[in-house]
Amino acid sequence: MDTFDVGVIGSGPGGYVAAIRAAQLGLKVAIIEKDKTLGGTCLNVGCIPSKALLSLSEYYHFAKTKFAENGLLVDNLRFDLDKLMKKKDQVVYKLVKGVDFLMKKNGIEVFHGKGSLVDPQTIFIAEENEGERRIKAKNIILATGSAPASLSFLPPFNDQIVDSTSALQFSSVPRSMAVIGAGAVGLELGSVWSRLGSKVYVIELLPRICPLMDHSVSSTLETFLRNQGIEFFLNTKIISATSNTNEVLLELVSGSKTYSLSVEKVLVAVGRIPYTHGLNLQQIGISTTKKGSVEVNAWWQTNFAHIYAIGDLVEGPMLAHRAQLEGIAVAEIIAGLRFPQLNYALIPSIIYTSPEAGGIGFTEEELQAAKRDYKKGLSKFSINGRALAGDVGEGFVKILVDTKNDKILGIHGVGPVISELISMSTPLFLRKVSGVDFLDLPLAHPTLSEVLREAALDAYKRSIHS
Ligand code: FAD
Repeated sequence: MDTFDVGVIGSGPGGYVAAIRAAQLGLKVAIIEKDKTLGGTCLNVGCIPSKALLSLSEYYHFAKTKFAENGLLVDNLRFDLDKLMKKKDQVVYKLVKGVDFLMKKNGIEVFHGKGSLVDPQTIFIAEENEGERRIKAKNIILATGSAPASLSFLPPFNDQIVDSTSALQFSSVPRSMAVIGAGAVGLELGSVWSRLGSKVYVIELLPRICPLMDHSVSSTLETFLRNQGIEFFLNTKIISATSNTNEVLLELVSGSKTYSLSVEKVLVAVGRIPYTHGLNLQQIGISTTKKGSVEVNAWWQTNFAHIYAIGDLVEGPMLAHRAQLEGIAVAEIIAGLRFPQLNYALIPSIIYTSPEAGGIGFTEEELQAAKRDYKKGLSKFSINGRALAGDVGEGFVKILVDTKNDKILGIHGVGPVISELISMSTPLFLRKVSGVDFLDLPLAHPTLSEVLREAALDAYKRSIHS
């Protein structure tokens, strides 16, 4: 039986990144993946295909709604859904092949098959073509990710009531679609199909969309999406769903009102649950939480010190960048390099709608609840030259600064390229840059980034352009 220093089960952004880092550090690594392609949810049915469809549908929608008024005349603008889907599949293919290449380049042995633990050091692999085999691993990283959650009162999934994976590959644009859940996945996929012509209804149990986001951001995003034609039923519960060949009939209740809604498709986007199926955790004695996640300590160790768990499998934000950071951290711990700690408060969260929305650090509501004194600065894209030049001048950036020590506490926004602005703001937090330092930053002009500096200027009542 082959023995490895590290056996990684699951090849999503947590698993494959952990495998690469461990191999870079001189360890002998095996990775086990049950699906045909490497890359996990993110590359195959998550971040990447959704962003491909978001980008393509955004181009179409922008051309449809804004070209003519800007003097760009296109006759008979249409789209070819087959080609659009092929483009999305090509992007996915290119990236998963890239992961194959990285595995080879780093000398990582890849096993295609479902992995399960036989004992705390042995992984059983049911390989699709090669039959069964076992490998020994001195350290094991569980990175088996998550699967879409379903709702018990909705009929079993068929081609009418679907999850995010199916909603990435419809063969025609549904006439209408109800999206259950106003989180990132629901709003992103709802946007894709709305832009392509579907009448989209978003149904959310809570009183607002994206409840964890800064309130001003989520409410502004809601207004933008309403203006794009998406209809929202907030504070609303589904009490029944019946389907026939042409439609799904939903009965909704909100306070004392009841509604019925007939749609062609229902996308259930109510979150994801950790995927532990077939790992044999119970038999081995690996502890899990009430929610079914694998229980870990601050260094991602399970109750077996040499068995780690990372990414969506562990409680915390189900995000690819978090899984990657944990993968790198665990590989470095195993190699004896360091015991890093991640600051989960500094993991950016983005919704890739148009405009994008997101934030990093504390929200205003969190600061108010904690009774922290803070200064607030705000700047709108409608006064930013670059945004106006590209006809994307909607939304704002908000910066929250500690009144006592000028430390930046939060940056939130809705608008063009918010994902890039927020992402590139993380060093400000990590390097403890103060709000004051921000005021003299030599940013190129004209850029969308200037909105961020203008927001900082506003926090110090030094705003130049507003
Ligand atoms: P996964 O990516 O889920 O990978 C787990 C892998 O383990 C899978 O390949 C699975 O087949 C394999 N596996 C499971 N069990 C076994 C077993 N027993 N043996 C062998 N292999 C096994 N996150 C972002 O940060 N940004 C985004 O824009 C974003 N967009 C998303 C859009 C959608 C539609 C969805 C569904 C998710 C999105 N996410 C996004 C979330 C992101 O995809 C996940 O947080 C991320 O993939 C988690 O990585 P992971 O490595 O923990 O697990």
